[in-house]
Amino acid sequence: MTVKGKITAPPGSLRKLYEELSLEERICEYCGRPIRRNIDLYQGRLYHHGCLLSAKERRYRCLGCGAWLSWLELGEAEVLGRRVRSCPICGGRVKEVKRR
Ligand SMILES: [Zn+2]
Ligand SMILES: [Zn+2]
Repeated sequence: MTVKGKITAPPGSLRKLYEELSLEERICEYCGRPIRRNIDLYQGRLYHHGCLLSAKERRYRCLGCGAWLSWLELGEAEVLGRRVRSCPICGGRVKEVKRR
């Protein structure tokens, strides 16, 4: 059983998600692991709080239009049945920009 569509919770009621969703449904969008604690919600998707912070920090550059994006802003395209990250503006390929 997977959660389809957006998950919504009023601000400050994240703890209710532990009651409403089973552990198999509480999958972090970023690392793909179940969320046992430190659950967070961003734009209808679930994350570990730490993962959400990491995702915000990761920077990508679109190879098509040159836009700078965070991991959270990336769009998703399906190529040969696989989900790949893409630019939400032009749909082009994105490349992670490593920082030191
Ligand atoms: Zn995570
Ligand atoms: Zn682009």
